[in-house]
Amino acid sequence: MVDIIETEMRLTPVTPEAIESARQKFRTHLAAHGLRITNQRLAIFDAAFGQAEHFTAEELLAHARALDESVSRATVYRTLPHLTGSGVLREVDIGRNLKYYLPNTDSTAQVAQVICVDCDKIFEISAPFMSWYGNTVSSKLGLTPVSQRLQVSATCDALKAAGACKHRA
Ligand SMILES: [Zn+2]
Repeated sequence: MVDIIETEMRLTPVTPEAIESARQKFRTHLAAHGLRITNQRLAIFDAAFGQAEHFTAEELLAHARALDESVSRATVYRTLPHLTGSGVLREVDIGRNLKYYLPNTDSTAQVAQVICVDCDKIFEISAPFMSWYGNTVSSKLGLTPVSQRLQVSATCDALKAAGACKHRA
């Protein structure tokens, strides 16, 4: 079960071209908001796009500092809204106090999240049926959908059966 989900979660491979185009989008956004394009802000961008998994602001800080030790916590927290605002990062709200982020290289793709509450693992799966379903039910009601989300909270079968799971830190 887990293996099926894991092959599906690589739905938007981050290519060098996609990263370059996202970096350009971020630069344009900063300039449009009268913000300087500093090495620290670019280190935060590079740290974000170096992650294969969802990450928190604190994790992003640690990764950005590994690239440029002059990156401060305040800079990370002030830069995050611009990363999400420019559309290069996606904020994933899983109903906890912590916010998670993920590079957004294909903003048109419909994704659903399956969250393992035992192992704190977020799987992103391709969900093209979602837009079809959302459009169909909305149009029957005479409505046009503007956004939709699907989020599944689940417990871990591997942990229950074997007492261990490769997704646990
Ligand atoms: Zn697990």
